[in-house]
Amino acid sequence: MQKVNTKNAKRRLRKNAGRERRFQQDANHCISKALMKKAVVSRKAIALEDLSGIQERTTVRREFRYERHSWAFFQLRQFITYKAAWAGVPLYLVDPRNTSRTCSACGHCEKANRKSQAEFLCQRCGFAANADSNAALNISRKERAAVNRPMASSLAG
Ligand SMILES: [Zn+2]
Repeated sequence: MQKVNTKNAKRRLRKNAGRERRFQQDANHCISKALMKKAVVSRKAIALEDLSGIQERTTVRREFRYERHSWAFFQLRQFITYKAAWAGVPLYLVDPRNTSRTCSACGHCEKANRKSQAEFLCQRCGFAANADSNAALNISRKERAAVNRPMASSLAG
């Protein structure tokens, strides 16, 4: 009896996992599609963190590890990458260092700025925001800096 129940439970779990997977995949399609539409309409580029060397370079706290290493997160990046190419939206990869612990208001960088997975609170200026929104602002600033730099240097030279 127990054996049978275990089998059923396992099957139920597998079924739920499949459902969860499809739900995440649909969500990722919707998110990347909406993002691309917005980028095309507003003629904006998209910036993502360049995570190619992240394992060696950063120590990510255990509770933050999920978001950077989950398959759903990487799938979303993949969708964004190929949809951007398909839609002709410029895509920039920026240095991911400190994006989540730097204050987008004053530029102060400190580990303690990121109170939790969701909250950001600057220890210097008191700027409070959703941690992802703050990181996104930093990523967009890095993108603009990276895009503007070659132009500025060619003008100077
Ligand atoms: Zn600040």
